[in-house]
Amino acid sequence: MSHLMNTYGRLPVAFSHGEGSWLFDLAGKRYLDALSGIAVTTLGHNHPKLVKAVSEQAARVIHTSNLYGIPLQEALADRLAELASMDEVFFCNSGAEANEAAIKLARLYGHGRGIAEPAIVVMEQSFHGRTLATLSATGNKKVQVGFEPLVSGFVRVPFDDLAALQAAVTGRNDIVAILVEPVQGEGGIRVAHQAYLQALRSLCDERQWLLMFDEVQCGIGRTGKWFGHQNAGIKPDVMTLAKGLGSGVPIGACLAAGRATSTFKPGNHGSTFGGNPLACAAALATLAVVEEEGLLSNALVVGDLIRSTLAKALEGVSGVVDIRGAGLMIGVELDRSCGALVTQALEAGFLINVTADKVVRLLPPLNFSTADAATLVEGLAALIREFLAAQ
Ligand SMILES: *Cc1c(COP(=O)(O)O)cnc(C)c1O
Repeated sequence: MSHLMNTYGRLPVAFSHGEGSWLFDLAGKRYLDALSGIAVTTLGHNHPKLVKAVSEQAARVIHTSNLYGIPLQEALADRLAELASMDEVFFCNSGAEANEAAIKLARLYGHGRGIAEPAIVVMEQSFHGRTLATLSATGNKKVQVGFEPLVSGFVRVPFDDLAALQAAVTGRNDIVAILVEPVQGEGGIRVAHQAYLQALRSLCDERQWLLMFDEVQCGIGRTGKWFGHQNAGIKPDVMTLAKGLGSGVPIGACLAAGRATSTFKPGNHGSTFGGNPLACAAALATLAVVEEEGLLSNALVVGDLIRSTLAKALEGVSGVVDIRGAGLMIGVELDRSCGALVTQALEAGFLINVTADKVVRLLPPLNFSTADAATLVEGLAALIREFLAAQ
């Protein structure tokens, strides 16, 4: 019997090593990785520049402490602030922690404005993590059940629906922030309309609320821009990052700009591991390779290619409801539960995922090639056709 706590339904496979977009199991069978460990391995597996940066840093120093200066953390904060046009960064180790930081920052900001019980607007079908505050912010009952009492102070509204949001906040004077994923990941690859995000920006400016984007999944080049919200030409007050930032080495970040800047003071927040030299070296290498190898445009081009060729290959197939996404964040919605497709794909040598019950989710590494894309589309289209025909 396994001594692991039973928190995951695991697939019957384990991997020995990876090379680019491919993973090899213990028996030597290879799999095309169209999931990247859930949007984590930005550069694929074993990228020589990442391996070099991480191993050289490991040999030099892995961890010191945030009690001391960490030059690599300063350099990474500079780089992220530059890419996002934001002012400051707090480093942590995961998406949930990044969102915890954002939620705490919003509450502190509210208290600073004399609001005793600040509230944050959150979305239906959202996902923000598994800690108590972030699961309370999450718009999925399955994530919350059994963990009540939930953390209070969240006002839930339908995603991508401005009128519903305006109605929900009318007459309230306790709102301090809106927390939203520019592209909902776990919720089924739902892309917010640009006009909606722009309207949220105006609303937050009018009311002096913080516009907080959870870019844990859609950030770091995934949508073809460094950050998903940049597709709408606007800027948040707070942004959270994690998954793809270290290309597999755990690191999260909470960025602040404008009226959110300088909210935390020493003693308000912290993290023992957050932004240690090893994690920062991995993140700096990831950002450098994304830039040097033109991976933003690759994500856009290969993402469009996958969506268009998949649409062609599945044309007229009844049961396919929608093929959508942005860059290499792709969802194929079917008209029925399709969790079984994950195992069928595994047997056929493809790593994919199903989220929100009916949506096949693809999150390939940002350096996925057009040849990998053709292999994926051919294999996946056949699997989906077979799956739908067998039902
Ligand atoms: C995965 C995810 C999180 C949680 O990240 P962890 O690193 O698992 O804590 C938060 N927000 C979004 C949008 C995510 O996709």
